Amino acid sequence: MVILKGAEVSAKIKEQVQKDLMLIKEKTGRIPKLAIVRVGEKPDDLSYERGAKKKLESFGLETEVYPFPEEISHEEFKAAFDRINKDRHVTGILLLKPLPKQINEKEIDSIIDPEKDMDGISPENIAKIFAGDESGYAPCTAEAVIEVLKANEIPIKGKRAVIVGRSMIVGKPLSMLLLKENATVTICHTKTVDLKETCKEAQILVAAAGKGKMLNQDYVGKGAIVIDVGINVDEDGRLCGDVDFESIGEQASMATPVPGGVGAVTTAVLAKHLVKAAMDRLLS
Ligand code: NDP
Repeated sequence: MVILKGAEVSAKIKEQVQKDLMLIKEKTGRIPKLAIVRVGEKPDDLSYERGAKKKLESFGLETEVYPFPEEISHEEFKAAFDRINKDRHVTGILLLKPLPKQINEKEIDSIIDPEKDMDGISPENIAKIFAGDESGYAPCTAEAVIEVLKANEIPIKGKRAVIVGRSMIVGKPLSMLLLKENATVTICHTKTVDLKETCKEAQILVAAAGKGKMLNQDYVGKGAIVIDVGINVDEDGRLCGDVDFESIGEQASMATPVPGGVGAVTTAVLAKHLVKAAMDRLLS
């Protein structure tokens, strides 16, 4: 089984980002800036924030964290978010989710400027993904799966792809991106009957269920390519994916590890989106 390493995919994305960044600096004298908006101090948010900052800064991009207290009211947060949204020095925004219950997340999703919406949460960008229009932004993780396949020259056209998970941030948008690449796509979820059999038919199997090591060799067909989006903590406190990586070696032809797989590509896609936002602004 070939291990598909995220770092190699990320390095390829970095090359393109840096070419575009040189042009942006030359034309504007500025470096694109990502605003990372965080409410509260959840360990998952802090860990994603650290990873995103580190990756973007290593690509030569700027980041600024805008932290808010966990108990901030909806109205206060909305007003503050809108100021960041309208700040012309902010090129793109990453909003860490989920937000606390008192904040109406849907309303915030609907006010984010679609041109600054780096993780594809606005209704406009979601509509574009479903229409197969590439001018907007897809959620970074969904796009990262496509980047992993393309960077490793894995054909998608005509392949049977199965995704386990139907969230708005991974499963659903990814199904549209795979469809755009002409895969035949099945989406599985908790009500799927015969999950094992359905997964076994996949030539490309994407795990995005958020259930540590739930997919073992019984779910993987011979020669399948397995992309593991899951980030979980196992009983020993170690990071693990949704796939029982150790068990699938005989079945899968290629697979991404956790850590070191899709996660590393997600933040590289975030950098790619930020540079695209700056380029679009330059050309408009
Ligand atoms: P959600 O909890 O929002 O969605 C999980 C989905 O998986 C749901 O659609 C759910 O089905 C389905 N599911 C859960 N358990 C099962 C099961 N036993 N059988 C079949 N389907 C199941 O999670 P996210 O989409 O936000 O995230 C998924 C995973 O990806 C998590 O581990 C998360 O940490 C990780 N992640 C990784 C990122 C990265 O950069 N690599 C970024 C974002 C997320 P139903 O709809 O029926 O409830």
